[in-house]
Amino acid sequence: MTQTYAGIAWTDEGYRVEVLDGEGRRVVEPSRWSGAQCRELIAWLRDFDGGRPPAVVLESTNGLLDGPMTAAGLEVYRADPWLLPPRPGFGSVPAGLLAERARTAPGELARVTAEGGTLTGRAEEYFAGVKRGEPIVAELTASGRCFERGRRDDPRVALTFDDGPDPVFTRQVLDILDRYGARATFFCVGHHVAALPDLVRRTAAAGHELGNHSWSHPYLPDLTPEQLREQLDRTAETVAKVTGEEAPTRFRPPYGALSPEVLAALEGYPTRLTMWDVDTRDWARPGPERIAATVLESAGPGSVVLMHEGAGDRSQTVAALPSIVEGLLERGLEPVTVAELEDHAQRSKG
Ligand SMILES: [Zn+2]
Repeated sequence: MTQTYAGIAWTDEGYRVEVLDGEGRRVVEPSRWSGAQCRELIAWLRDFDGGRPPAVVLESTNGLLDGPMTAAGLEVYRADPWLLPPRPGFGSVPAGLLAERARTAPGELARVTAEGGTLTGRAEEYFAGVKRGEPIVAELTASGRCFERGRRDDPRVALTFDDGPDPVFTRQVLDILDRYGARATFFCVGHHVAALPDLVRRTAAAGHELGNHSWSHPYLPDLTPEQLREQLDRTAETVAKVTGEEAPTRFRPPYGALSPEVLAALEGYPTRLTMWDVDTRDWARPGPERIAATVLESAGPGSVVLMHEGAGDRSQTVAALPSIVEGLLERGLEPVTVAELEDHAQRSKG
């Protein structure tokens, strides 16, 4: 078989995959995968057609697959909104349409690299948007509607884990935190929560805080205000349904992509924006020693530390975690939830 194209769509139930050949014919029956089956999906694609994987096409509203897929050596492309018709309801455009774009207009798609991530080729646009949003974020932070870090006299640190839950790494992270009696905050994506409810329940039952990290990890500026709110609503509802507790109101934007337009779409939405002051850049896999060193060199009283537990190989983060927790404890810094840091900061303000 010659070149084939796999469009991967996301829905409220998981992924749908459609593979077309160069003539636009279906190569196999369309398939469905849950949000927890990323590894199985990658293995299936790698073994496709006797080891000749199709070119994979994703939307910029799917930030959960490009990382693990590029790391696995798959050829991954991104179809941006201006190349596609409007998204139908909740979900991306259909998988067949994504595959068809790759077949008919390959030059217009962006080849996603492991280094560039989901936004390969759109970094300038991303940074410009974040820069334009900075004064608004500063204002929100000053008025207590966005939280970046706690007080510098609070001898505690909030470790945060994004993009989970994950069928492999979440358990390992929870086990390590348990061992030290440490609490943390998990910014989950709805797509994974729906597929792995037991892990979410275990996380909540262990006293950790659950936050909202959207449904499909989209590049927020590509969503309409309604789509943005629906990403948050569905995730919050799913977490509440799974845990039987109140829906989380804390939100961390994927990629920290807070442009003025995104912030305007969130205006009046009942959410507590949560950023960070220490970025481990663990997704770049710099080695467990480097990840631990970044935390222990940069985190101080009141810090919020950004790490990842899902949507990629997070084994380095897991390997770094014992040294991080031990190092913080040695410095007299107790690992707690973001909510605990924020409560203290607000009470101190009086
Ligand atoms: Zn994320």
